[in-house]
Amino acid sequence: MLFERQNFLVAGLSRSGISAAEYLVARHAGGVYLYDDLDDENVRAAKAKLAAIGCVPVGPNELEERAEKCDILVLSPGIPVDHPLPVSFKRAGKRIVGESELGALALRCPIVAVTGTNGKTTTVSMLEGIFKAGGKNAVACGNVGRPITSCIEELGEDGIAVAEISSFQLETLYSLRPHVAVVLNVTEDHLNRHYTFDNYVFLKARILKNSAESEYAVLNFDDPVVRAFAEKTKAKAVWFSMKEKVAGGYMADGYFCFCGERVCAESELSLEGDHNRMNALAAICAAKLFGIENGAIATALKNFRGVKHRLQNVGTLGGVTFLDDSKATNVDSAVKAIGSVKGETVILLGGKDKGYSYEPLFDAIKDSGVVHAVIYGENAFRILNAALKRGFLNVTLCRPFDLAVRVAYLTARPGQNVLLSPASASFDAFRSYEERGDRFIEMLGILRAESERTESAPQTAGGELESE
Ligand code: ADP
Repeated sequence: MLFERQNFLVAGLSRSGISAAEYLVARHAGGVYLYDDLDDENVRAAKAKLAAIGCVPVGPNELEERAEKCDILVLSPGIPVDHPLPVSFKRAGKRIVGESELGALALRCPIVAVTGTNGKTTTVSMLEGIFKAGGKNAVACGNVGRPITSCIEELGEDGIAVAEISSFQLETLYSLRPHVAVVLNVTEDHLNRHYTFDNYVFLKARILKNSAESEYAVLNFDDPVVRAFAEKTKAKAVWFSMKEKVAGGYMADGYFCFCGERVCAESELSLEGDHNRMNALAAICAAKLFGIENGAIATALKNFRGVKHRLQNVGTLGGVTFLDDSKATNVDSAVKAIGSVKGETVILLGGKDKGYSYEPLFDAIKDSGVVHAVIYGENAFRILNAALKRGFLNVTLCRPFDLAVRVAYLTARPGQNVLLSPASASFDAFRSYEERGDRFIEMLGILRAESERTESAPQTAGGELESE
């Protein structure tokens, strides 16, 4: 890319958009223009910060004229490619790239790219820890941690970029050529954005499209969609599986193993659930391909405490344990939580619909400790419908989130869990799954304060009724 001669329009001013604009300015781009459909406090702050280094904010009235003069659109992963702005660039035959494409073009070090429907952030964080324990300069970047363009210099030639790559990023990512590409799983998600499952699978497979024979594809052997990816790439397949002794990572006799060798005891992993054991196997495969020692892997797995809002115990009240899995924004991730949670559980389900069937949730619930479902949010009736179709009748319907948390707590008996694993996006009532998870934790605090007040309130003598 000849930056000096080109004008860039950066659309979407969240973290990656800001980083892309800063990167383009540092590379002496001809002009860097900024646009966002929103005009909130964060966007205004981003525009002011970037204007100070020479970028030019563009308002909605001048957008069309300015877009015509720009050569390249840098599109935020949050903006779909069928938004009128990218459509106009496409019609004019101009390039549309994401921040991660700029990063992929600039990185000089080896890249481990991790994609999949679920487990990306967990695996990338785990892997960053393993590489660091093995003495490498590794940085978690991409969809998690830092935008790729912000860590080019820090990584230099000797670092390892551990990049989380989402399907939204893959829409505008063409040049990525990972040393190791990891595909964790592909299940239904984001159908409201990608329209069909086939299209979603096609996008996920893009992570392997530039790979050559000298590179590796770490693939989930137990997932039929991912297994088929081996036929679509030149990269050498390295498998991971919970079921078979594959050429790659697998479990045997209580050990994580890699190609016939015991890497470390299963008990070293501090996270619960088979899905996390799969994430660990994928991370181990990638680490072993980089020659990391078994001792470093064991230390990192032991020290890894998981990531916030992913099946985390956030406290206990009246003998009821609260589990925050707000990041379970699709059915498969909630199914995994249902399968791995120990003991009887009241589950909170609901939020913004993404266009898939909720029936697998209730198939999973049948063989689990889930005794009751509190269903809330915009898609409450679709989930209720799925519950009834699957014959699960222990449900309470209540729309607002706060009330749903209260009802779940009141429904749970001491010794049981309240699990927030909504199988839905949060955008019907929150700005993000983080905000939803934080509210869940706040509600626990509110319920705790209320119960303390009740306990310390003076009792009315002789059971007399107080007057109102
Ligand atoms: P991502 O970055 O792909 O969204 P996260 O690591 O943030 O993945 O986890 C998202 C949700 O998926 C959480 O609810 C988590 O418990 C669950 N999860 C993590 N790993 C897996 C996996 N391998 N398969 C299915 N669900 C998973």
